[in-house]
Parts: sequence; C-alpha cells; structure tokens
Amino acid sequence: KASQAAEQRGWHLYLVGGAVRDLLLSEAATSTLMITDIDLVVDGFHKSADVGAGVELAKALQEIYPQARLDIHGAFQTAALLWHKDPELDSLWVDIATARTEFYPYPAANPEVEASSIRQDLYRRDFTINALALRLTSPRAGELMDFFGGLLDLQAKQIRVLHANSFIEDPTRIFRGVRFAVRFGFQIEAQTARYINYAIHSGVYDRTSQENSRTPALQTRLKAELKHILEAPYWLSALQLLEQLGALKCIHHDLQLDGRLLRKLRLLERCLHKFAIQETLIPWQISLEVLIAHLDGKYREKVAKNLQLPDDSITRLKKLSQTTSEVIELLPNCQFPSQIVNLLRTYDLETLILIALEGSCLIRKQIWKYLTTWANIQPLLNGNDLKQLGYKPGPQYRKMLDDLLAATLDAVIQNREEAEGFLAQ
Ligand code: ATP
Repeated sequence: KASQAAEQRGWHLYLVGGAVRDLLLSEAATSTLMITDIDLVVDGFHKSADVGAGVELAKALQEIYPQARLDIHGAFQTAALLWHKDPELDSLWVDIATARTEFYPYPAANPEVEASSIRQDLYRRDFTINALALRLTSPRAGELMDFFGGLLDLQAKQIRVLHANSFIEDPTRIFRGVRFAVRFGFQIEAQTARYINYAIHSGVYDRTSQENSRTPALQTRLKAELKHILEAPYWLSALQLLEQLGALKCIHHDLQLDGRLLRKLRLLERCLHKFAIQETLIPWQISLEVLIAHLDGKYREKVAKNLQLPDDSITRLKKLSQTTSEVIELLPNCQFPSQIVNLLRTYDLETLILIALEGSCLIRKQIWKYLTTWANIQPLLNGNDLKQLGYKPGPQYRKMLDDLLAATLDAVIQNREEAEGFLAQ
C-alpha cells in the first residue's frame, strides 16, 4: 500500500536500515525473521513547503489503516505509524523519513537525481551493513541499493564504518558497532577499529562523560545504547569488547572492566535470575548502576546524572559509600535473623544488591538469605487475630506484631499456638 501511494505521487520509496540488514541475514541463515521496526525513506517532493513527502505518505497510509496511530516529529521531515496489535503480540512501528533535505522539484524519473538522493540519505548512516536500501517502488521494485559494499560486509561478517570521522562526530556509534558485532558474531573491520582507537585517543569521551555536559542529546543516545546492550543476552561479551576498544571511557574516564568488576557482573547475572520476578527491579538499570558503583564514590552521582538515570538511582549511587560502610560495619554484629531483618529492611532491593556485590562472601550470603527468605516471612498472627484474641486495638499492635515477627524469624515460636502463648507472657 505504501509503495502504491508513493507511486501514485511519482515518488520513490525504500526500505532502509536494520530491516534490510536483518532480511538479508535471515535469508542467509534461513531463519524466521520478526521485524517490529520498519524504516522507510521516501524520495519525493511535496508542493507545499511545510509538508514533507514522508508526512504526506504517512497520512495517506493512515487513511487506509485508521487503526494505526500517526506521530509526526521534527518540523516536517519524519512521521511514524504505530500499530498496536494484540497486547500479547509485539507492535509494529513504521518510520517514514523524507530523503531530500533540499526541497525543490525535480524530475522523479531522472535516475541520476534519484540515486544521488537516496545515496546521500544512506551516507549519513553508521555502518555499511546499515546503509542498504531496498527499492519498493517500480520500476525495479525489489532492487537492492548498495552504494558502500554493505552486502559484501554482511557476507564477510564485518562491521565497517562509512567514513573516517564517524566516531568523532558521534561516539555512541562505537557502542552501536560493538552491539552489532557481538549480536551477529561479526568482527569490527581493522580500519574501523583504528578509527575507533583514534577517536578514543583524541579524547572523544570527554563529550559523553563530562559533567554539566553541553551535549545532553549525546548522553541520551549513550544511555539508549547502554540500555540496548545491557538488556541483551550478550551484554557481558559486549562490555568486554568495549573495554578492549577503550570505549568504556565514554561512561567515565576511569571506568575499566577489571577482574573485580567482571566478578561483580558475573555475580549480578546470577542474582538477576533469582530476582527477575521482582517487578520493581529493572535489570539493565541495575547493571548500569554496578558499572557506575565501580567508580570512586566521588564520581558516581555525576555519572548517574550525566546518563540521566532516574532520581532514585542517582540518590542511591550518591549514598552508596555511606550505606555500604554502614551495612559492612553493622551486619557482622547481628547474631539473629531478626536483627539482620531490622537492619536490612531500611534499604531498597537495588541498594542491597549493590552492597552484596561489594561486600565479603559472608555479607553477600546474609543479604541473599535476607532477600530470598527472611524478607518474605510474615508474623504468625495478624491484626485480626489479635482482635479475636481480645487484645484492644491500638498503637501497641505494631509492637506486638514486630515482636511476633522477630520471634518467628528467630524460631522462638513455630506455630499459632506458640504465638498465642508468646503474646500471653
Ligand atoms: P536494531 O535491530 O538494533 O533496532 P537498527 O539498525 O534498526 O538495529 P536503529 O537504532 O533502529 O537500529 O536505527 C535505524 C537505522 O538508523 C540504522 O540502521 C542506521 O542506518 C541509522 N542510525 C541509527 N543510529 C545512528 C547513528 N548514531 N549514526 C548513524 N546512523 C544511525
């Protein structure tokens, strides 16, 4: 439908970006492909100066598919259509951008103008494998437009950047390159690795890691890339490759994936399996907090702010040195489970995970035991039971329930009968 609408207007339409790459990869691997995000580029001119061809095409498609939601972003260049299918299924995003930046009429049938226009659009992209386009309109619908050797690189399984200054212009491309390399099992092509090295050595990380940065958009993109990486099953290998390339400096100059951090991350991976059911825990965010917590205490708050983490996360990291020392000092003095519960229940789950990774084996064991067992134990009687037993409701209930909980935790009482006897004493 989209290509028909474009053809009716004398425009060219292309499928671009990740969808073309994934289509070619899935063909090679004969695996099934699930595309939920489609990028289209329309190459056309709209007579009204304030409407891009992409926007007009999106509007035309929405008339055909009224269930799709239309979002128009930017001045008039891009539009997105969103299909919310069954809540159980993934939704479908279709982004439609306009290829031409200069808005002047040109003969659509002129193949040279057309080629230069889509080429220009693809040249702004990051890697050759992401700079492929599939023409959707006739003539030659289905033709692959490959100006930069993307197909060969897909076959050679390598990530090659489009131009030398790419990583200086946008250091988050280093993270994207690593993400694609690890995800597809590709190599970063040698010259591309040298460009990354050059960008790192020229101090490009100052732009992403400096406090009070003047480049918040860059930090937003870095955070998005980190989220992508830390959510993926290959996150640890991606971090290792980022370390090899010296790119973790983009988070903070001092950040290094040394043996200690690697050990903490492996422990975290195990712990995330245990606590995956906890709805409040956002696994990628706690992984990022572990990276930040590995830095000297004086940098943590600034890095968390730079990466635009939520307020509770910034506060947690800011107070982490203090909370860690408190727990490490007080926990060994606790002799009974009830004392441990009293101490640890004042901290949130994330803080306890961060402290556990930092602490000794004993500290970690006690925190795990608290999180997996003791924190879930309830007093053997509740407020209603107390009422039925004839105790007068009032503020003393709190103390009675606390005492009951402590006695339950410390195995002083084991059933309701013993609980009633305990209260009567
Ligand atoms: P994924 O499957 O991970 O979503 P994708 O390639 O579709 O991969 P997107 O982040 O959705 O990734 O980006 C879509 C396209 O936009 C990319 O294929 C690439 O051509 C281009 N692109 C995205 N980010 C950048 C960037 N920082 N610099 C240059 N081009 C980019």
